[in-house]
Amino acid sequence: MDIAAILREVRESVGRSADRGAVANYIPELAGVDPGHFAMSVVLADGSQHSVGDAGVPFSIQSVSKVFALALALGRLGDRLWDRVGREPSGLAFNSILQLEHEKGIPRNPFINAGAIVVTDAVLATHAPREYLGELLGFIRTAAGDDDIHINQAVARSETETGHRNFALAHYLRAFGNLTNPPELTLGSYFHQCAVEMTCDQLARAGRFLMEAPGMPRLVSPDRVRRINALMLTCGHYDGSGEFAFRVGLPGKSGVGGGILTIAPGRAAIAVWSPGLNAQGNSKLGTEAVEMLARRAGWSVFG
Ligand code: GLU
Repeated sequence: MDIAAILREVRESVGRSADRGAVANYIPELAGVDPGHFAMSVVLADGSQHSVGDAGVPFSIQSVSKVFALALALGRLGDRLWDRVGREPSGLAFNSILQLEHEKGIPRNPFINAGAIVVTDAVLATHAPREYLGELLGFIRTAAGDDDIHINQAVARSETETGHRNFALAHYLRAFGNLTNPPELTLGSYFHQCAVEMTCDQLARAGRFLMEAPGMPRLVSPDRVRRINALMLTCGHYDGSGEFAFRVGLPGKSGVGGGILTIAPGRAAIAVWSPGLNAQGNSKLGTEAVEMLARRAGWSVFG
């Protein structure tokens, strides 16, 4: 398989697209990102890496960080985490508050905002936010094999000033007894976690631990790798998760910065970035690009 040729073809195809989606503007600092960016990077099971486009340009990974936070939380708490967060797709927007009342403060899954806030709270426990963020960055840097990965403070500040829905979620969780820290402490950590910046090259490498291929970094047990992948497949794209599974057939986690980390188990870790989003808040061209790549390469978890 000529992966470099497939990547070139994907890039040309998305380059012809007139509709690139809309850049997220509810976090003011993200509203100014140029929607013209496109990058894709693939690490194959033999360890080789192939990239096209702006694969060396850092972007805000936003909710892709929820994958790394979950891996950290499972390592720290093990299955006790599941007392506080479920494993069902929500079918609702990433920042919805609707289900929380019906389900008594137990968020549906770790990848919607309410669930991710609980995961951050659980890892934070009694530590200072600085320690949690240091640990998370350490995990991501080890996964990527690259120390040049940082938090964009301006993005974190911007979301802290405008993140009213996330404050509502956090207070609601606290009212149900499912937040052990004061909401501003947990959210401070959560907003900084979302503000981690990475390039597509770095993100694809950071996804290697989810590939379960020989020679890849082993950061969590194979059992947990499978579970994280299962959640990425069923819940990684909010109310667009079924559509992504249908079209791409691989586990993936998106972020409103326009990045998507996708895993072809045993075969590849794929990062894509195109800042324009579709109606569900997932990268529009990014989704189309991974769909095309998966089809051309013949990658699917369904055979
Ligand atoms: N920081 C964003 C928020 O909480 C993350 C959402 C996303 O990337 O989907 O609203």
